[in-house]
Amino acid sequence: MPKHTPAPLDPRSPLVLDTRDLPRRPGALRTVRRVAAAPADLGVELIGVPAGADLDLDLRLESVSEGVLVSGTISVPIKGECSRCLREINDVAAVPVQELYAYENSTTDMTADEDEVGRMQGDLIDLEPVLRDAVVLTLPTNPLCREDCPGLCPDCGVGWAELPADHSHQQVDPRWAALSQLTRKEE
Ligand SMILES: [Zn+2]
Ligand SMILES: [Zn+2]
Repeated sequence: MPKHTPAPLDPRSPLVLDTRDLPRRPGALRTVRRVAAAPADLGVELIGVPAGADLDLDLRLESVSEGVLVSGTISVPIKGECSRCLREINDVAAVPVQELYAYENSTTDMTADEDEVGRMQGDLIDLEPVLRDAVVLTLPTNPLCREDCPGLCPDCGVGWAELPADHSHQQVDPRWAALSQLTRKEE
């Protein structure tokens, strides 16, 4: 099977982690706290992270025998639309991240599947693919402005939250009116 060759990483990119000052000795630790601009198209259809928004990285890099384990949280601003009432949603999500990146030419690099373990490029780690997966996993597929959002009136399209409790659309057809009179008499 030919080995997949990814595009070379740019060490200056905010979503690329440089591990040069992390000793390749199991147990060695380093923390990374930084703010990075969100890449485009981060999210799902109704909700996502606006391109260029501040991603707050709070990560721990730990040397393990065949690579570097990256774990921590990335706080991301999210913007979207309520799937019931279409109101705008503005929120912040804490996206948990945990991924092992194998050293180039380590046994793990040679034997593990591409989607099982991340790969380092020299001393560099590309955080973007893991961030994308983690964001998509964290975001709801049917986002709601609030858990009990009552949605919209199907007849006029106004949000139930803005309508009086007795809001209804009377049938104007006289035959229906007559019928409802009848049912009422039977009660
Ligand atoms: Zn809503
Ligand atoms: Zn209505």
